[in-house]
Amino acid sequence: MLLVAPKVAYPTASALDKAALELERALGISKATRDANACAAYASDESEAIGRAPDILVIAASRDDVVKTLAIAESCGVPVTPRAGGTGRTGGAVPVAGGIVLATHALTQVKEIDRENLLAVVEPGVVTGQLHELVEKEGLFYPPDPNSLASCMIGGNLAENAGGPRAFKYGVTREYVLGVEACLMGGRVIRCGKRTVKGVTGYDVTALFVGSEGTLGVFTEATLRLVPKPRAIATVLALFDETRRAASAVSALIAAGMVPRCLEMMDHATLDAIRSQGVAIDPRARAMLLIEADGDPTAVDDSLQKIGDSLSSHEGLVDLVAAQDASQRARLWEARRMLSRATRKIAKYKLSEDVVVPRSRIVDLLERVDVIGQKENVQHLTYGHAGDGNLHVNFLWNDDEERARVDRAIEALMRATVDLGGTLSGEHGIGIAKIPYLHFEQSEALIDLQRDLKRVFDPKELLNPGKIFPARGHSAC
Ligand SMILES: Cc1cc2nc3c(=O)[nH]c(=O)nc-3n(C[C@H](O)[C@H](O)[C@H](O)COP(=O)(O)OP(=O)(O)OC[C@H]3O[C@@H](n4cnc5c(N)ncnc54)[C@H](O)[C@@H]3O)c2cc1C
Repeated sequence: MLLVAPKVAYPTASALDKAALELERALGISKATRDANACAAYASDESEAIGRAPDILVIAASRDDVVKTLAIAESCGVPVTPRAGGTGRTGGAVPVAGGIVLATHALTQVKEIDRENLLAVVEPGVVTGQLHELVEKEGLFYPPDPNSLASCMIGGNLAENAGGPRAFKYGVTREYVLGVEACLMGGRVIRCGKRTVKGVTGYDVTALFVGSEGTLGVFTEATLRLVPKPRAIATVLALFDETRRAASAVSALIAAGMVPRCLEMMDHATLDAIRSQGVAIDPRARAMLLIEADGDPTAVDDSLQKIGDSLSSHEGLVDLVAAQDASQRARLWEARRMLSRATRKIAKYKLSEDVVVPRSRIVDLLERVDVIGQKENVQHLTYGHAGDGNLHVNFLWNDDEERARVDRAIEALMRATVDLGGTLSGEHGIGIAKIPYLHFEQSEALIDLQRDLKRVFDPKELLNPGKIFPARGHSAC
């Protein structure tokens, strides 16, 4: 099902024929194909969005392949959808106008790990979890850690400005991107950014590329900031009798000045989903917090003590467990890591939203979600990065006839989020899925300014068309 039908122009049959022929000549048939099965495999991502299958699949193996593809696509008037790991949650890599999918997963080189200057230079197809392992072997650390890190890639992380549990302490991807090399439609190559810690020359074009959801340029290289690897890590799992009490314990920790690297929360429905998969959780528990501190061993011991004291004095605490060695920590994370799988098993379909509210409004948001779920009679569960106010509200359903109620619930969630002073997306982006709600948060003037910016990079609007912004005159779709 296509969540929203963006208004886009489809390429003509003759434009596609011309592009396919030129791509085959320029790249060879091993990299450019019109095979329907191969193309179909690149028509979806990890959202429920189904667009229009690509007509041509290009698997780039070098920057040169990307340049040639974008030059041919523009001259033939064929749209291009960039893609990396295909784990996106809002349909960003799902083509809506057919045309070319430009896959960058084969650009896998880690070109440099510079210990002295604390940076890495990588290609967009490097899997995020593999980069973690590589730099950690060198005593370094790349903090952004989307939960999809085993399969998502740096190109997609940059395009979505990915976050993850560690963002509470370390921030999101943009804070670790020093520079990029990006190819624009037509084949122009832009290198921007720096290799230095400071640098304020000209506009911050790098920051604009990060989070642009593949609509401004195709990344072929990224220079990433690294930090020293923390010497010690400790994890605390706290069970509460009520979600609102767990949420207020989060606020208390933050107000006391503690900066753990992760502050994750799961509500009662989430715990039930995990229990249904055979994981034993104290039956009195209706909410779980997972808190992780890192740093020097003495600082971590101190944090552990303070976190324990703060949680123990909080009303509603049912149980508290701390772990410092890797295997104990992995056990505490088990419930969180299996969540995606667990929710898939309890319902046929799910939509995972990633709204953000000011931390002080988390309890209000949770209450509104319950009201919305009851009103629309839609099953839902909420978990996520409570330390950032970034919660994954999941709506679940089994039959297509329930879909209209789910859509109403999502719309109500988006309105409630903005009403509470929040934002529609903390890390998944707008893609296709959230286009109808963009105007809840942004003015028409701001949306127009962004459309104008896009046309500077892509005058013919051929790069990832139909994403982020509603078609003109259709702000509410
Ligand atoms: C189980 C699960 C857990 C997740 N957890 C998190 C989480 O904790 N935090 C989080 O932030 N996200 C999370 N996500 C969402 C997703 O993993 C992220 O959005 C991720 O950054 C997407 O990376 P990707 O390589 O899969 O990109 P893709 O899905 O391939 O593409 C995503 C976007 O990037 C663009 N793009 C891809 N490659 C390039 C390129 N080379 N140049 C320019 N644009 C490009 C695409 O056009 C698209 O708009 C999760 C997803 C799943 C399935």
